[in-house]
Amino acid sequence: MYYKEYGNTGMKVSAIGLGTMRYDDDDIAAGRFEKCAEIPLYALEKGINYWDSAPFYCDDKSEIVTGIALSQVKRSDVYVTSKTNFGTLGDNPTRDAFRKRLETSLDRLKTDYIDFYHMWCMLNLESWQKHMEVLYKFFEEAKSEGLIRNIVFSSHMQGNDIERVVETGKFKGMLIGYNALNYRFRQSGIEAAHQNGMGVVVMNPLGGGMIPQNPDAFRYLTEGTDLTVPQAALRFVASHKEITITLAGCTTKEHIDDAVKAVENLEEKPAKEIVEDYADKGVALNNLCTGCGYCKGCPKGIEIPKFMDSYNQKIFTGKDDAVKDRLDGHWGIAKEPAADCIACGKCERACTQHLPIIERLKEIAAL
Ligand code: SF4
Ligand code: SF4
Repeated sequence: MYYKEYGNTGMKVSAIGLGTMRYDDDDIAAGRFEKCAEIPLYALEKGINYWDSAPFYCDDKSEIVTGIALSQVKRSDVYVTSKTNFGTLGDNPTRDAFRKRLETSLDRLKTDYIDFYHMWCMLNLESWQKHMEVLYKFFEEAKSEGLIRNIVFSSHMQGNDIERVVETGKFKGMLIGYNALNYRFRQSGIEAAHQNGMGVVVMNPLGGGMIPQNPDAFRYLTEGTDLTVPQAALRFVASHKEITITLAGCTTKEHIDDAVKAVENLEEKPAKEIVEDYADKGVALNNLCTGCGYCKGCPKGIEIPKFMDSYNQKIFTGKDDAVKDRLDGHWGIAKEPAADCIACGKCERACTQHLPIIERLKEIAAL
């Protein structure tokens, strides 16, 4: 395993981290938590010492499974995370609600402290400011009590907004979505974090499955390697000097082996050089929907992720027909509901890729 320093914390962490949101669905549903816990245990055997957890993952069982594994290893051998925010605790949660959430996470993880506690899912500067006013103080208190070790945040903001958060100097690290689809869009954010001595952890390195589902579009990442497209996509992210940890969501031990192979003999490079290396390769990647689902809840009932996923096919192929084929053949829905959009803007404000959803729906409706 290849190790990196986590910002200025002095912690040495594995270049691959375990994303704990992909424990086997059937095992979770059947309550076979001990079996699921074999995944983090195997990950640690392979040198992966950073386990990223949160409430709600795996039908809200991820922390329980991760805790079973954590209780079987030397606590100081693993860095474990969890997360909290307003959105998941109702509109105006009290300090007690945050406290209870943290205590529940500690209890489930079977530990006295969490190494990295995230102010979770800051979608934009407005939401970040709201969290700073109320939640940051709670984090500081929890830290002074020794319940959490490092205050970090996770975000879907663009690079320049991330820069503003980073400059406050209030965080030891951050977790962001970064991959071969959106790297140009977030590059300045990871550079700013690195320069400010922060750790940078990357989620969604496979672009919500878009990369493995469209291997031909991403074959260029494998040039000069014996890696598969998903492995090359992990390596692409991990090779950024500014990125500390690349999270791999693993269901099986083979997934862990694949991720470990992706960083064998890793060579780090500054983001600038990587962006130059790939400047003339790939499709217009920042324009793709990653299927994250944050735009759900359209007042007109439009299934936006399905429409935007179908629009991706136009970006890949350049053909209008590919959109209709995807809607009809893959999702089994008609294009007509696209015309119901009233342009309220709710979805665009929530979109993690900042896509022009309204415009795209108009285009689809007119096909
Ligand atoms: S802008 Fe259109 S698609 Fe988006 S939430 Fe509003 S009505 Fe729905
Ligand atoms: S449209 Fe945006 S928010 Fe919705 S699924 Fe796609 S990337 Fe996510």
